[in-house]
Amino acid sequence: MSAPRDQFAEVDQSVLAVAEEPAVSGSQAFSVFFERRRAARQLVLDVLVARDGQRCQGCGYLPPDPGRLEIDHVLPRALGGTDTVENFQLLCRRCNRRKGHLRPDQWHAALARDSVAVMAALRVTMAAAAAVRPRIPSVEHAVLAAVVARVTAAMRLWDDVYVADIAVAAGVVDAAGEPDTKETGRRLRALRDRGLVVYEPSSIRGRPSRLGLHTAGTAMSGGGDL
Ligand SMILES: [Zn+2]
Repeated sequence: MSAPRDQFAEVDQSVLAVAEEPAVSGSQAFSVFFERRRAARQLVLDVLVARDGQRCQGCGYLPPDPGRLEIDHVLPRALGGTDTVENFQLLCRRCNRRKGHLRPDQWHAALARDSVAVMAALRVTMAAAAAVRPRIPSVEHAVLAAVVARVTAAMRLWDDVYVADIAVAAGVVDAAGEPDTKETGRRLRALRDRGLVVYEPSSIRGRPSRLGLHTAGTAMSGGGDL
């Protein structure tokens, strides 16, 4: 038996142990029940993040907190899938909803169609950028290129990004040579207002903003905030 398989079996046993602890009666019963569920979920989450990374296995979404990913049955329970770590994967909420009870092969076919949609959306975005080129300064092209490169690098429609990273990539700096997030944010909003990108600035300090592409005229967003 390989080491990872042993590790998964260990986690499966731990989850079962959490579930099978003697019941507590009285007013504490509900809180104990939910605490056990939380502990079991955390165990599975930890081992899946160690195995696959902190990413949605459908679209590649990298959440700031792995708790925003959902535990999915690769082979749905309705089709005979088991409650074991080997049959679990992490998906973002959007991918989990779209996957539903699809078999793995049906799900992979759906993801392949998504890739075609992303490439089509990218071509539309780049054509739109080229069309407005004479009217926008080159620095805005740098911002747009950084956005497009980042969003499409992993064949995704959207991403969580720090505006400071975009500022660095685009070379937008203030008089002191520091990344100018205010100016970069203004330019991102201008790109959004032109319909070139989807941009949802974070209203919370330290939280990433969200950037994306349009596809088929619809702004796609992802992650756990649908
Ligand atoms: Zn996803």
